[in-house]
Amino acid sequence: MNNFNKALLAILLLIILSSCGALGVHFNVHNPKKAGTYPKETKQNKLLAETTRYRTCFDVFHNDINIEIVPKQKFISGKVIISAKALSNFDTLQIDLYKNMIVKNIESAGQKLNYTREEGALFIKMPATIKAGETFSIAVSYEGKPIAAKRPPWDGGFVWKKDKNGNPWIGVACESEGSSLWWPSKDHMNDEADSTDITITVPKKLVAVSNGVLKDTSSTADKKTFHWHISYPINNYNVTLYVGDFELIHDSYASTVSWKTTHLNHYVLPYNYEKAKLHFQQVKKHMAFYEKMFGAYPWQRDGFKLVESPYAGMEHQSAIAYGNGYKNDYQNLFDYIILHETAHEWWGNSVTAADLSDAWIHEGFASYCEALFVESISGYQEYLNYMYWQRVGILNKRPVVRQREIRYFDYHDGDIYGKGSWILHTLRTTMSNDSLFFDILKTFRIENNQKQIFSETFIDLVNTKTGKDYNWFFKQYLYQREAPFLEFCWKNDKLYFRWKNTNEDFVLPIKIKVSDKTITLYPTTKLQAIDLSNAYSNFYDNSNELYFGTEKNKKLEAEFNLNK
Ligand SMILES: [Zn+2]
Repeated sequence: MNNFNKALLAILLLIILSSCGALGVHFNVHNPKKAGTYPKETKQNKLLAETTRYRTCFDVFHNDINIEIVPKQKFISGKVIISAKALSNFDTLQIDLYKNMIVKNIESAGQKLNYTREEGALFIKMPATIKAGETFSIAVSYEGKPIAAKRPPWDGGFVWKKDKNGNPWIGVACESEGSSLWWPSKDHMNDEADSTDITITVPKKLVAVSNGVLKDTSSTADKKTFHWHISYPINNYNVTLYVGDFELIHDSYASTVSWKTTHLNHYVLPYNYEKAKLHFQQVKKHMAFYEKMFGAYPWQRDGFKLVESPYAGMEHQSAIAYGNGYKNDYQNLFDYIILHETAHEWWGNSVTAADLSDAWIHEGFASYCEALFVESISGYQEYLNYMYWQRVGILNKRPVVRQREIRYFDYHDGDIYGKGSWILHTLRTTMSNDSLFFDILKTFRIENNQKQIFSETFIDLVNTKTGKDYNWFFKQYLYQREAPFLEFCWKNDKLYFRWKNTNEDFVLPIKIKVSDKTITLYPTTKLQAIDLSNAYSNFYDNSNELYFGTEKNKKLEAEFNLNK
């Protein structure tokens, strides 16, 4: 290998490594030989995750949740009325409620109903066959001590804390576990009630906050009841409550894309009131950016609020959990939790995955939103730096689109966040047409507002809008776990290269810089060579650090069969 070769290789590697963080973040791509596994299939998660006929036979249009919370005993009791429309004839249906919760009574139109219980599923027998098209209601009275969260929000459940003044401070997060952890519901991502009422009774000195708008309150000698109304569809894990000694910060946000104003009603602990009032101003900038990129805020009638939560954060629709300590944790420029969770109003809450398998539509898109916001305030280089940072945690243990119908969401493998975001970044650079790329994102959001969809809807849109077939791209990045690897070596001024860990149809182009020239390679799984002897104008060798190493080159020379 001559000096030119060394320099060329160094430069080439700089290009490849630049996407691995040559600018400060040292990083090796994780490409484990062994695939990650999924949790053992249990009766409990089968019943929770599968779309059987006991669930597809009806469509919920309203949930009326009445609940009392007894903080001292970490106890809840209540009644939930589920109103639905039959989609096919049936006499038995499934409603979910975790098995540690006690069912007291189930009835419909004043008539007590029989049911059997298997793990977290209630199979409820109707008095007569319900015919397709008919509407009906089922009321479930229940009580118990809901599962307490081990590591909220990821390992979810109820969070029973006390604030600094010793007052109860309560919340619930159940993205992984599902809504039936604490209320009887048709606990599947593919069905959202069109509207929801939630009425919460708590000890008198406390405030109960939920999604949507506060309709009214009432009091007895020692209790206070808060009635909240959600006037839009909402996915089940987003229905939530917060209880605490809260104070209200009222503010408003004037939309930048419509004439409408959204009420902002933040709830915070009293000793953080002044801090929060100032700190929460930034959410208006985030909303304005997301509106510009993806269309108007989807829940204008219901307002928007940040609620001080006893855990880091969660995207609860129109009532986002905030627990990040009032700090701008990214270069003093913004609060990561506010930026990320607010992005979910567009990605996850407005456009929802029909199964948790496709939750990269929530988390990958929301993570990519962070980088786009950075680009909007600090420019493209900072955007790239932010992307490099997101790459560090990519594991490549499981495909980004997980196994379907198992309700898998594990914070130990966060590829739906970082790799999901990188898929969008790579799509953008591959398309090399920003206006089309951003038009696709906006169209995807607007066309699928209030819908539950799978990743295929996004792929179809990319193919239609570009007029090209991008299935090779998504097959590799969404449905297979291993990262593509570009193998290369050179001999006699020729660069030899090919893709490894890819399908034969994988055609991602790679740009390399040789001296001051940019050359695009079109690698495939077949070995190709390019003569670069005339491709340089000024020679320099400044990077021993990135030097590929003769040993590895020799090994690949042999593998590529170049020594004949
Ligand atoms: Zn998220």
